Amino acid sequence: GNKIRNAKLVLLGDVGTGKSSLVLRFVKGQFVEFQESTIGAAFFSQTLAVNDETVKFEIWDTAGQERYHSLAPMYYRGAAAAIVVYDITNAASFTKAKKWVQELQAQGNPNTIMALAGNKADLLEARQVTADEAKAYAQENGLFFMETSAKTAINVNDVFYEIAKKLLQG
Ligand code: GDP
Ligand code: MG
Repeated sequence: GNKIRNAKLVLLGDVGTGKSSLVLRFVKGQFVEFQESTIGAAFFSQTLAVNDETVKFEIWDTAGQERYHSLAPMYYRGAAAAIVVYDITNAASFTKAKKWVQELQAQGNPNTIMALAGNKADLLEARQVTADEAKAYAQENGLFFMETSAKTAINVNDVFYEIAKKLLQG
């Protein structure tokens, strides 16, 4: 009881998928329509209580642009958890998410808890990636999967809460 567990967490995924928006929603409970592009990476921290324990997430929100790709290992190496984000309205971003998962599997730490987040779940009419397809992919690759919306807040805290629970179990 009453322990604080520090956990480095990284968000990876294509530019524009909503990584910064998910962090802003989780950390500040806010959403902005015109979120500025991240340059390099941004750092945030937020605590989450699970039963009588506390996880302090040290969050690295990466840019997602290809020109910053070489920096990514600095953020995912030693990470306790990674959230790979795609945009459900953008099939190319799902392809890119799978590439991130492959890179994490090849270069990352095998103990890193991996989550796949299909973001912008509020934009159902523009959907290009089905939940079934993403769920099947996640199951095959040992990730847990949720569709999220930084805009409506659906499943955002839940992703972090699920990660915190897994961290405390491990
Ligand atoms: P990042 O490049 O992955 O950090 O993406 P951003 O967080 O900068 O978001 C890119 C754009 O998508 C911004 O205009 C956001 O307002 C928008 N956005 C992010 N999350 C959502 C969401 O869940 N729903 C909708 N409709 N728009 C979102
Ligand atoms: Mg960003």
